[in-house]
Amino acid sequence: MTTLDSPSPDQFEEVACYGCGGRNHRPLVVAEEDLTGKPGRFQFVTCHECGLVYQNPRLRFEFIGAYYDDEYIAHRKKTDWGWFTPLYEWAMGKHDRDKLALVERYVDLTSRSRVLDVGCAAGTFLTRVHEQRSCAVSGVDFKDLTHLPGFENIDFHLGTFHDQALPGRRFDLITMWHFLEHDYDPMRALGHARGLLADGGRLIIEVPRVDSLSSRLFKERWPGLQAPQHTALYSRRTLLNMVSAAGLEVVDYLPYGAFPAYFYLFTGTAFKLLKGKGLNLSRAVYPYFLGQLILSPVLLFERRLNLAMQTVVCRAREAT
Ligand SMILES: [Zn+2]
Repeated sequence: MTTLDSPSPDQFEEVACYGCGGRNHRPLVVAEEDLTGKPGRFQFVTCHECGLVYQNPRLRFEFIGAYYDDEYIAHRKKTDWGWFTPLYEWAMGKHDRDKLALVERYVDLTSRSRVLDVGCAAGTFLTRVHEQRSCAVSGVDFKDLTHLPGFENIDFHLGTFHDQALPGRRFDLITMWHFLEHDYDPMRALGHARGLLADGGRLIIEVPRVDSLSSRLFKERWPGLQAPQHTALYSRRTLLNMVSAAGLEVVDYLPYGAFPAYFYLFTGTAFKLLKGKGLNLSRAVYPYFLGQLILSPVLLFERRLNLAMQTVVCRAREAT
């Protein structure tokens, strides 16, 4: 495990509310880095004006990269899970299959479709879209993982999304799977995405839901806090307000996502027990799948229980 000192106060910066620019807020919860157990305590506040929950002070951008090292789950390689690798691969493949099934409820993907995944990480979703539907696929991420297989088919752009000079009004589908809660300027990212949508194009955003059952259950150990990487936490209301303020029109809202809510139930329970000591995911694989089996009757109702995730499907609002 990487050793890292607690970030010093000068590595933090005060920030105005991402939603409304307001400076008035009240403390909500202090979070730790529960996944890897790295030191540090991170304050989330609630905006008095618009109700957005965001990290304040936040780590300055140049210091956040250290928290996206090789232990970060979205960047894990597929092969380091021992003899559980086939089960892990099946579960990760299922996640990408679920993403594709979700987007195809809203967008017809053909060989002429152009798809952009913002925060594409290891690129497995885009690889699937390319292989299954022959779409032209583009991805943006601030971490370069292009050595991984599949990237030879992805038009990859390294860096911050809103800095990418991509050709405008081009994409039939833009996805943000667990991107927006990491971004340092989510309103700018939403505005940038709006300008990149083709006529009839859709933007699909999945984020953790702060007004969810798992959040109430686990409180300061809620996996959705994922401090310090998560800069903002959205309720249904604050998410819908922000997409609307960015010139987007809501096509549909789902109180679930393609990401399994069970992951939050499992890791939240583990974080409660471990109290900030960090979770060894390799050792947790067996209890993870056992717990999923036990909870499977409850998980059948995942879509009705507001357990952990939310998804909003948008299109560009026409100027009036
Ligand atoms: Zn606000």
